[in-house]
Amino acid sequence: MAEHQANDCIFCKIINREAPAAIIHEDEQIIVFADAFPSSQGHSLVVTKAHGRDIHETSEEDLQAVAVMAKRISQAQKTALSPDGIMIAQFNGAAAGQTVFHYHTHVVPRWEGEKLTIHGRKQAAPEELEAMAAKLRAVL
Ligand code: 5GP
Ligand code: ZN
Repeated sequence: MAEHQANDCIFCKIINREAPAAIIHEDEQIIVFADAFPSSQGHSLVVTKAHGRDIHETSEEDLQAVAVMAKRISQAQKTALSPDGIMIAQFNGAAAGQTVFHYHTHVVPRWEGEKLTIHGRKQAAPEELEAMAAKLRAVL
């Protein structure tokens, strides 16, 4: 296990290919995959490869890379899905709504009249997530 990985962290497992995910993009610093419990069609997570618990444990270089990648993913969602808007959100600490303690940013397409729920959603079928990831990859 690489030193920047944490035991029992689901996002580290995805990065290490020890757990499945519908991957949209990957480079040296960042991985982007479909949220398994999507708030909307196309809900994507931009995740640092280095394991930091939250914004406070994440380097400025990684924070910048995440911000730039969130913009690229937003653009891909706009092109592929034509949402009415795109929400970008990031939570630090359980009190703020964080549930996975490995720094990440949500990029969530939104449509007029569609209600947003951040947690307590339904798990999507892996094939649906992969189909969505393929659509976004195609225009990234
Ligand atoms: P947080 O509230 O920590 O910002 O959000 C964590 C997100 O990770 C949630 O939106 C949740 O649906 C997503 N998530 C939790 N476990 C998994 C998983 O095993 N795979 C994927 N792709 N997403 C997950
Ligand atoms: Zn981790």
